[in-house]
Amino acid sequence: MDFSLSDEQQMIVKTTRDFVVNELYPHEKEVEESGVLREDLHRELKAKAIEAGLYAANMPVDVGGAGLDTVTWVLYEKELGRTGYALHYSCVGRPSNILLACEGEQRERYLLPTVRGDRVECLAMTEPGAGSDLRGMKTTAAAAGDDFVINGTKHFISHADHSDYVILFAATGEESTAHGVRKKMTAFLIDIGHPGFEVRPGYNNVSHRGYTNSILEFNNCRVPKTAILGELHRGFDVANTWLGATRLQVAATCLGRAERALELSTQWAVDRVQFGQQIGKFQGVSFKLADMAVELRAAELLTLQAAWKRDRKIDTDMDMAIAKVKATEMLAMVSDEALQIHGGMGLMTDLPLERIWRDARIERIWDGTSEVQRHIISRGLLRPLGG
Ligand SMILES: Cc1cc2nc3c(=O)[nH]c(=O)nc-3n(C[C@H](O)[C@H](O)[C@H](O)COP(=O)(O)OP(=O)(O)OC[C@H]3O[C@@H](n4cnc5c(N)ncnc54)[C@H](O)[C@@H]3O)c2cc1C
Repeated sequence: MDFSLSDEQQMIVKTTRDFVVNELYPHEKEVEESGVLREDLHRELKAKAIEAGLYAANMPVDVGGAGLDTVTWVLYEKELGRTGYALHYSCVGRPSNILLACEGEQRERYLLPTVRGDRVECLAMTEPGAGSDLRGMKTTAAAAGDDFVINGTKHFISHADHSDYVILFAATGEESTAHGVRKKMTAFLIDIGHPGFEVRPGYNNVSHRGYTNSILEFNNCRVPKTAILGELHRGFDVANTWLGATRLQVAATCLGRAERALELSTQWAVDRVQFGQQIGKFQGVSFKLADMAVELRAAELLTLQAAWKRDRKIDTDMDMAIAKVKATEMLAMVSDEALQIHGGMGLMTDLPLERIWRDARIERIWDGTSEVQRHIISRGLLRPLGG
């Protein structure tokens, strides 16, 4: 196996790192302290990301993206992940791959303008009563002639207040399966502002300040059948085909922030002197650095391996789940140890560490909790043996 990076990969890593350090880092303090990504700043940074060729780099060339293979995309995500979601995700958009399921007029109206950065999507699955158990969702889309009438509430929907449309998952019926009666799901594309569809402010979040979430209310919202993304009743198939990569995205961005925390901690262990010597000379500190490096390297290899397998179309749900569990739990450990090495200063907002530590917390929850990932991994082990 070849672990070296090609010249092109090295160039992409450098370009992305330079953009994050020079364009995004300088705004971290403002976004953290105000809890808001100003609209004019958002527009300015997004324009710079488009200009730098970094916007929507995850998408294929034929729709206007950079056409990165999965390994190269993970390397790019890792660099973006050095900062928080408000800056790296809102300003350097990576449209959901699920939009590649767009057909006909949907491509002109949703897919292509989203890749260009003219429109922004959000994706709504989670409901107040249905988080990990997505099939428990109560939002329905009832057939009414050639239309569907949607009713229900979604919550925790990221950046919906900055979005132009939603990719909505709703129940469109039920079916009998070997596991009992199950809801059939369908994905819809619905413009923000469509009659019967309201976006309300969500909750305040201690992780990734400035990266908003919203509550979406659908009240007799009538949409034509042309709003269906993919096929009727096949919403989970569309999601399974295109959304597996989002777990790799979470894993990759965790690697970037962990690397930053380790770099800061290593420097601190050299600069900080106590008892007449650098604290890095105490084994109690240096072994923490060693453990952080081991965990980071292991998470990075697992994430890159999952990406490598995806490029060869031999990846499994288990590969994605292993990468997500390892990278998110590694970041929790690394950011906590980084605080410990910095002592009291680690908790002060003068340094980025307390933010990295707070931001780390959400990574084990969104895009499937660690428990759900472990369920996927253990299922992958047990099922082949009839378990
Ligand atoms: C800031 C933020 C942004 C988000 N953005 C989006 C978005 O844009 N779109 C979207 O659709 N969703 C979004 N989510 C939702 C996110 O994916 C869910 O929060 C996540 O899937 C967990 O659901 P829950 O919060 O309802 O927790 P629950 O499902 O209620 O879980 C509570 C606890 O029970 C455990 N648990 C549940 N079931 C099992 C089981 N079978 N076995 C073992 N343990 C179990 C969980 O692991 C967890 O520890 C976002 C969430 C947050 C916090």
